[in-house]
Amino acid sequence: MTENLECPYCHLEETDRDPLGGWIHRDEHWLVGQGPADTTMPGALKITSRRHFIDFAEMTAAESASFGPLLTRLDTAMRAGTDAERVHLVSTRDRVQHFHAWLYPRPASHLLRGTAFLNAPQRSDPADAERTARAIRDHLRR
Ligand SMILES: [Zn+2]
Repeated sequence: MTENLECPYCHLEETDRDPLGGWIHRDEHWLVGQGPADTTMPGALKITSRRHFIDFAEMTAAESASFGPLLTRLDTAMRAGTDAERVHLVSTRDRVQHFHAWLYPRPASHLLRGTAFLNAPQRSDPADAERTARAIRDHLRR
């Protein structure tokens, strides 16, 4: 199962809509970009697999070997490019059944923690989201 014609995440790069601020990272296994302004905070990143699969158990050896180092690099860049004290990782794959994981930067000043923080409504000003995406990408390239 390498591609699913009806899967919205199998053709992310072929659409005309790049993520806000442009792609933050692309390699042979992963695409990383800022989430939509109407549902995510500035700096919230979605990691999507290039290959169509759903669960962690279906990762190839190369995908699983690259996922951890990618998380380390993104965590470092997000903490440098935002005011995140902690970066939360969430991956349910219940709505879109193509592997993806979200990283949410939780500022030290935020009143909520853990799942209470994750359950709170998110949105962002598109200009803020673009600026934050660029800052994270700049730190990722250092
Ligand atoms: Zn897919």
